[in-house]
Amino acid sequence: MRAPIAVSSLAIAISLSACQQNAESEATGSEPASQSPIETRVVDATWNRAAEEARQRLTLRAREGQARNVILFVADGMSIPTIAAARIYDGQTGGDTSGVENLLTFEAFPNAALVRTYSTDSQVPDSANTATALMTGIKTRNGAISLAADQGVEVCGTPEAAPLTLAEIAEARGMATGVVTTTRITHATPATTYSHSVSRQWESDVDLPDNAVAAGCRDIAAQLLSFDEGDGIDVVMGGGRANFLPEGDGGRRGDGRNLLAEWEARGGATVTDAAGFRSLDVAATEPVLGLFANSHLAFSADRDDAEEPSLAEMTGFAIDRLSAEEDGYFLLVEAGRVDHAHHATNAYRALTDMQAFEAAIEAAIDRVDLDNTLILVTADHGHTMTFSGYPARGTSILGLVRRAVSGGLDGETALTLDRTGRPYTTLSYANGPNTRGQDDEALSDEEVQAPNYRQEATVALPSQTHSGDDVALFATGARAHYFGGSMEQNTVFHLVAYAMGWTELPGDEAPN
Ligand SMILES: [Zn+2]
Repeated sequence: MRAPIAVSSLAIAISLSACQQNAESEATGSEPASQSPIETRVVDATWNRAAEEARQRLTLRAREGQARNVILFVADGMSIPTIAAARIYDGQTGGDTSGVENLLTFEAFPNAALVRTYSTDSQVPDSANTATALMTGIKTRNGAISLAADQGVEVCGTPEAAPLTLAEIAEARGMATGVVTTTRITHATPATTYSHSVSRQWESDVDLPDNAVAAGCRDIAAQLLSFDEGDGIDVVMGGGRANFLPEGDGGRRGDGRNLLAEWEARGGATVTDAAGFRSLDVAATEPVLGLFANSHLAFSADRDDAEEPSLAEMTGFAIDRLSAEEDGYFLLVEAGRVDHAHHATNAYRALTDMQAFEAAIEAAIDRVDLDNTLILVTADHGHTMTFSGYPARGTSILGLVRRAVSGGLDGETALTLDRTGRPYTTLSYANGPNTRGQDDEALSDEEVQAPNYRQEATVALPSQTHSGDDVALFATGARAHYFGGSMEQNTVFHLVAYAMGWTELPGDEAPN
């Protein structure tokens, strides 16, 4: 949770168009009638809060200098209702019984945009094509990792035909690069930075079908080892160790390769537990591969601090390490398991993983100079969680819907009942595993607030699905004012390129 005053402590940028409008009205010399003060009748706490927020926007200034560093934060599956619910959960668990006035750190970033997430073959996307859009500037089909929509196994024979990724471009320009995630490092989102794969499923050699092997395709883990742009990726951290180790040695590789040993043989460092992570020398320069679990890292709510570092710790280390590169760095940080919790309709773990994501963003804000660093916070796609009913202010965001029945903010509340006379939760899903019938017992507060509770769904599906709604993007730092309005997801890539000075707009002049 942010301290209340932090809105003003964050650096803020104003949109260019607002500056131009001011300049124009000054130039005309005549004062518009609208500049006389408005009459106010009610000045209460809500008025003052809004007036302060408005005043802060008026002091925003653009950070027009070129970005040297870019940090892309992605919370997988962070729909806009997820942000609203996480804001309240974070406030309520931080001692604010209301929670509605809490703000997550990134919500105070000066610029925001809506991002359209559809893929080339689906209205509702997956993580592979959406991360490909962010990483390569093109949209592709569901399931493809940093390949164009029409590129199949034949591209394995001509790897130079695959689109370049932000990490590949950054490395080729002599920058430092890093990838940090809470999923397997070979999972879709992180894989789009360093690999090109016809299928997101090809994480280890045993996952490749015969036609892919025949076409010379390589698995995603092996591609991480053979990544050869620049001096290679400098910091790689997450889970998924089994895809790097041979069968019989705790892994699932069929080719007998031990990719951790190969990484070390090339002069890199590897770490596999929290103690090893915490003993890493941040001033060292060898590339580091940290794989802290066989598969995904634990949900934040279940994480054993002695076994796995937190997302914030990994993010802090990556920034400290990458900052030594004077040509700048590109860093992807993914909170990959918000998505997994949503698939299980377990809102508790989605919201607690959002808090871990928030902590990682704070770790970044503490470390960077926003005049030379662009920070973006977004999601790859949404989920079907809804935030609805008319729960009274102060009711638990994970609880049953209770309406206010008498007197003020601390007044009495009563359960709101559905048409069959049963209570329901504030958070629910359009589809998923927990559908309830009229014969089921009525829900209790105790049941719905238990950590393993799966929120109710309308349509019965074994796993809750992604959604096709737009996601939000928040931007702060160098050239953050490039981001705004409603944009295609792959436009984010192009704006990053402009912010980094990698490309110029037609007409010779760099935009600012
Ligand atoms: Zn998903």
